Amino acid sequence: MTVVVLGGAGYIGSHTVDRLIEKGYDVAVIDNLITGHRAAVNPKARFYQGDIHDRAFLDEVFNKETNVEGVIHFAAFSIVPESMKDPLKYFDNNTGGMITLLKAMRDHDIKRIIFSSTAATYGEPKQIPIKETDPQIPTNPYGESKLCMEKIIHWSDLAYGIKFVALRYFNVAGAKADGSIGEDHHPETHLIPIILQVAAGERTGLKIFGTDYPTKDGTNVRDYVHVVDLADAHILALEYLKAGNDSNAFNLGSSTGFSNKEILEAAREATGQPIPAEDAPRRAGDPSTLIAASDKARKVLGWKPQYDDVKEIIKTAWNWKQTHPKGYNDRGEA
Ligand code: UDP
Repeated sequence: MTVVVLGGAGYIGSHTVDRLIEKGYDVAVIDNLITGHRAAVNPKARFYQGDIHDRAFLDEVFNKETNVEGVIHFAAFSIVPESMKDPLKYFDNNTGGMITLLKAMRDHDIKRIIFSSTAATYGEPKQIPIKETDPQIPTNPYGESKLCMEKIIHWSDLAYGIKFVALRYFNVAGAKADGSIGEDHHPETHLIPIILQVAAGERTGLKIFGTDYPTKDGTNVRDYVHVVDLADAHILALEYLKAGNDSNAFNLGSSTGFSNKEILEAAREATGQPIPAEDAPRRAGDPSTLIAASDKARKVLGWKPQYDDVKEIIKTAWNWKQTHPKGYNDRGEA
């Protein structure tokens, strides 16, 4: 039986492919390599380069991979500020891509999908920590595009019997402990990799976006989970569906919130670097605080995250950064 991973050359996808292979699964990866890296894909996985929008390409893959037990879908854009500027890019790729994928799954009789949803589907939370049953009212097009995906898959389950698990990620960070794979975005927009670029001397300083939020120190509060722990949750979710359980949605977070200033301080300690920073205006679309209630994933999926210390998470990202100062360096950049 084969697991098909869409977006398996991206940051979270490549760590999930790696964990699947380590656990003995047969894996095929689909990625258009627009943001992913061929070098991030474990060589034991079969690789198909192409786009989720391309129905003929998906048919070609699913005609070759005839024994698919489930798909894990990461192939989406995920940058909040970009989605504010270009919402249609997000609805087209994320939501539209899901429709094409589900049609192909329906026609090839593939009945299980695990997919990346996000804390951004909740928008400005009504309560902290956020529960899976809380209202989903996104404050940005990225979150809305993912919420649409959750809704479309729900109706596809009822109509075509495609079972799903939506995994609502909070903030993901870190890298595989041996430093062989990690985070490499162009351009980088996420807090921890940007802080580490400053630590490495590639940027002069960190801009802290917004210091007047109603939080402990005025900066946004986020809930960080290690990428390998996140990867493992996808495998547990697949096994959960294989055991005959019904479709479901789970938050994936640590249930602990760190402010942007606390992350900066933890990174200074983890790297031993001064990491200069300055206050800057708010970034559009950022909710003030996002912390997950993650007991449901622990209880129902049996998820046991291995990393519970944000400094340790940052250390794994720093290890990747130091051993791969130019990332995968597969874009011909100097
Ligand atoms: N952030 C920041 N400076 C940066 C990048 C991010 O202050 O250069 C803040 C951002 O405004 C948010 C937090 O860091 O409050 C986490 O942002 P990120 O883009 O990493 O993840 P998101 O929460 O948007 O998924």
